Amino acid sequence: MRLILLGPPGAGKGTQALRLVAKYGLVQLSTGDMLRAAVKAATPVGRQVKDIMERGGLCPDDIVVSIVAERIEQPDARKGFILDGFPRTVPQAAALDRMLKKRGIALDAVIELRVDEEALLRRIENRIAEMTARGEPLRSDDNPEVLRQRLVAYRQQTAPLVAYYRKQNVLRTVNGMAPIPEVAAAIDKALPTEPSTPKSKPVRDGAKRATAKARKPKAAARLGKKSSKRASSPRKAAAAHKSTGRKSKSGESARP
Ligand code: ADP
Repeated sequence: MRLILLGPPGAGKGTQALRLVAKYGLVQLSTGDMLRAAVKAATPVGRQVKDIMERGGLCPDDIVVSIVAERIEQPDARKGFILDGFPRTVPQAAALDRMLKKRGIALDAVIELRVDEEALLRRIENRIAEMTARGEPLRSDDNPEVLRQRLVAYRQQTAPLVAYYRKQNVLRTVNGMAPIPEVAAAIDKALPTEPSTPKSKPVRDGAKRATAKARKPKAAARLGKKSSKRASSPRKAAAAHKSTGRKSKSGESARP
């Protein structure tokens, strides 16, 4: 299964991603975590994005896209993944479409966690207060002023993705203001039972396909549109895939 979690900072993407990872055996690909790791290791990318991140702005598309392109090639991402924090702009979404198409895979769903901005600010302020009380280190961009900037970036650059994915017919909207277990249940309900297949498979051997088609023109014409229907195998594959997933730890929370 390949999912995107879409929602402003503090919407609960990380919390829900953790649960989905445990339940479906997917890997969580968080561009925020990857970029923070680059900053911590002071790599050339890290040095380039450090200030942007601290101000609450978005890092350049080309940097983020190349990080993701490299990451989804890794063997652990083959079974499926959850993208958390990516794409965040329309050009990133278009780049992701190209990446997936090239590999002959498709998104199963884009889950939008819809939340109220004022409540979000309170949520993050509480999170900061709790972490400070526990003596835990804060992220350098975890403060109300930078959060406001992150919300502006979301509204201006990321929110257009809602319409983008609605057009692709993969958008599922969930009320992110509900308690964590309820959000989790709504996400489970919104997930497709059959893994998605891309509209067209990658053409690896165009010549061979053309020859095969030429050999059976009548059969193909007789079957017409129905010939592209693929029996019940995707459902079986989904059932088999689900049965390998570990039990959910719903209610578990890293960051709200
Ligand atoms: P949030 O709590 O805002 O969801 P993340 O951990 O996803 O935060 O990201 C933290 C910061 O990393 C963002 O404010 C931004 O500067 C940068 N970042 C993460 N993902 C992207 C992306 N896809 N495009 C551009 N910048 C990104």
